[in-house]
Amino acid sequence: MMSDLVYKRKICRLCNSPDLVLALPLKASALADEFLPKEMLHKEQPTYPLDLFLCKKCGFSQLVDIVIPKAIYIDYMYETVSSLGLVEHFKRYAKEIVTELSLGKDDLVVDIGSNDGSLLRAFKSNGTKVLGVDPAREIAKKATESGIETLPDFFTLELAQKITQSHGKANVITANNIYANVDELEPLTLAIRELLADDGVFVFESFYTLEWIKNMVFDFMYHEHLSYFSVKPVQEFFDRLGMELVDVWPIPTKGGSIRCFIQKKNGKRKIKPSVEKYIADEKAFKLHDLETYKKFENEINIRKQAVLDYINPLLASGKTIAGFGASATTTTLMYHFELEGKITFIADDYKVKQNTFSPGHHIPVLPPEAIYEKNPDYIFIFAWRYTDPIVAKHQKFLDQGGKFIVPLPNLKIIEK
Ligand SMILES: [Zn+2]
Repeated sequence: MMSDLVYKRKICRLCNSPDLVLALPLKASALADEFLPKEMLHKEQPTYPLDLFLCKKCGFSQLVDIVIPKAIYIDYMYETVSSLGLVEHFKRYAKEIVTELSLGKDDLVVDIGSNDGSLLRAFKSNGTKVLGVDPAREIAKKATESGIETLPDFFTLELAQKITQSHGKANVITANNIYANVDELEPLTLAIRELLADDGVFVFESFYTLEWIKNMVFDFMYHEHLSYFSVKPVQEFFDRLGMELVDVWPIPTKGGSIRCFIQKKNGKRKIKPSVEKYIADEKAFKLHDLETYKKFENEINIRKQAVLDYINPLLASGKTIAGFGASATTTTLMYHFELEGKITFIADDYKVKQNTFSPGHHIPVLPPEAIYEKNPDYIFIFAWRYTDPIVAKHQKFLDQGGKFIVPLPNLKIIEK
């Protein structure tokens, strides 16, 4: 069943070296974001390997078991607007880029993987021309109808040439988390170079591997996230393709991200000191050494054992545990910590998630009111980075004698 959906990559996504070593094996899991509505519960949800490999030549870490993108993107059911705080982030993002690159009304911004057009809407209100590209047809259609022209297609060299003819060259091309989600980065990047004006800038944002390790946010590893970027291999990659990394900014999203600015070689911008600074930090952290990942794996498994040692006796004595937060990271945590059969339901604030069933295990996702109807003894906070707002909103649960289990970065129990 899984063979027609997966292929295994044999060479590094950035430098093409075949010298890849297994760095961080997590438990195989179902596709992290495939929360199913009731009418789709018959759909088979196989598990796929979730193993991170490190390239010994360039130091880039990556997934090599690829779920064919169609399976993920064409049916992509969640729009940007449903993501917590993302629209606000995009508003800030557009304003910062417009200021940093001094964009005006004649400048074209093209967003790849533009989703519902949230980011481009923010650029448009800052006065630039905009164009979106997104293969999720329904979402692209809705974005176009709402005033953000969006081409319902995968971004290829051919499409880049077509856009050049119809809209001219792009002054800015953005690709946010999509850049970490594409297997064939080289053709994508060459298509970006094709569409980019000679003095244009390509900007992408992704979670940052050094922070990812440091902050224990390992649950951001799931099949959709193919690339775990760090600055050194990224710089070498663009250099090989006739481009240059000119600046790197730290961004607080997703447990620690970076924003990279890239121009064509010999473009008009000077390379900022940030690039060398990041590379030096990565070297000091030993980010490109296998040993660092082995330590990380050990740290993760220590947390897993602590969680299981805590909850198994509770379950044995008849206590019930619900979960809070039904996102892609929940799936990774659920599988890797082997929580199957231990969680009775998952509460989530977002309507699109409510009344769905978790990937693979089919644990029901319910509105938060279910907490007070079903009265579980404990709530396991899958969305552990949002522990403070969740606990603040559910003081009543504590007042009733309930307890929260916070699994990461270190096991913590919150009670009245
Ligand atoms: Zn490599």
